[in-house]
Amino acid sequence: MTPLRVGLLGLGVVGGGTWSILERNREEIARRAGRDIVVTRAAVRAQDLERVRQKTAGRVQLCTDPMEVVQAEDVDVVAELMGGKEPARTLVLRALELGKPVVTANKALLAVHGNEIFEVARRNEVMVGFEAAVAGGIPIIKVLREGLTANRIQWLAGIINGTSNFILTQMRDQGMGFSEALSQAQALGYAEADPTFDVEGVDAAHKLSLLAAMAFGIPVQFERAHVEGISSLTAEDICYAEEFGYRIKLLGIAKRTLRGIELRVHPTLISERCLIAKVDGVMNAVLVKGDAVGATLYYGAGAGAEPTGSAVVADLVDIARMGQVAPGHRVPYLAFQPDQVRDEVVLPVAEIETAYYLRLRATDRPGVLADITRILALQKISIEAMLQKEPRAGEARVDVIMLTHVTREQAIDTAINQIEALDSIAAPVVRLRLESLSS
Ligand code: NAP
Repeated sequence: MTPLRVGLLGLGVVGGGTWSILERNREEIARRAGRDIVVTRAAVRAQDLERVRQKTAGRVQLCTDPMEVVQAEDVDVVAELMGGKEPARTLVLRALELGKPVVTANKALLAVHGNEIFEVARRNEVMVGFEAAVAGGIPIIKVLREGLTANRIQWLAGIINGTSNFILTQMRDQGMGFSEALSQAQALGYAEADPTFDVEGVDAAHKLSLLAAMAFGIPVQFERAHVEGISSLTAEDICYAEEFGYRIKLLGIAKRTLRGIELRVHPTLISERCLIAKVDGVMNAVLVKGDAVGATLYYGAGAGAEPTGSAVVADLVDIARMGQVAPGHRVPYLAFQPDQVRDEVVLPVAEIETAYYLRLRATDRPGVLADITRILALQKISIEAMLQKEPRAGEARVDVIMLTHVTREQAIDTAINQIEALDSIAAPVVRLRLESLSS
């Protein structure tokens, strides 16, 4: 059988990993795919040409114009591994219009332009593979597209950004503040010079919007996700959470409720007894709860050259295998048949229901706690646990930490406003969400 000829757009971290895997495991991959998979062309930026030529031992035709690769006759499949929204979107759409399948690791592109890209792919009857776009080497897309198709997915929760997980791990293990932990992540190459997307939850929300689409059969709706990052978390709150037996993780949560779908990324307290609470450093994990299977957990490297390349190559193997399969019989891009994707309500964050961790800085005098609990009771918020710390030497104020039972966010917001108006409360109330993730 003729080889599947791949054109790489980008030969950086992921492109390089993809190339290395295809070279090293060529024979084994061909035994699985039923044909050879070879990289015939690659586009890089001008300053890379010589280094890349050495890396690919002169066996790949290099150029600096990615459109040239997309349109080349000796390219059957395009692997978009450049990143960014443009020119990636234009290149991907052009490949699809030419009837060429596309593999991409670009979550930012799919989160924003995914619906358009999948529609153009459907019209042209070609595949789009994006296993590498979510949780790097963990085959979570295949899990949702194929492995769990018997289930009505009830919720999923994931640690899907390795940089922020590394920072949180350092803050907990080393007692570092956020800035120090971020500097360390940058020094180790785990964080970009501009870390905003990672630490503010945007990258996780890109991935979450793809996972939610596949879990619930809804369009990709990044713009409706509620996004909060970890940059304002303090080591203090991480310590207090520990005292109650909780860890704080940046979780992406997609949950089906009777009133609509919750789609949110934020720092979350989870019991230290949950397996996912033990996922540390740059590792990723996704917990999926299906009505038939129960809770299932997927763990692995969420980034890096070969883990991500592993996912890219798996998509290439799928494309090589399905060459002859009629479009109607292929696995749908977003797990549900395109005409079965439904626009369900995504709840505004005020409407979500969860438990909360509250930290208040209060004057240490009688009656203060009674005022606070009265406000909470008026909003029908019940307290699960409470801890009052001793005042620090020379200070008249104390930290009071409370864990609530599940309530609606609107009620907590109202209560916090009223608590902050008390003259015994010295600083804004710290509010974090707490999830039981019970199966
Ligand atoms: P990278 O190391 O910066 O590589 C990007 C490559 O694309 C480089 O070769 C770059 O050339 C080339 N490129 C960018 N714009 C180009 C243009 N206009 N024309 C020609 N070549 C161009 O990035 P990466 O880390 O491999 O990430 C690639 C994609 O994978 C991104 O969408 C990212 O979000 C995703 N991803 C990455 C990881 C990871 O672990 N790194 C994990 C999962 C997903 P220059 O080097 O000259 O800029």
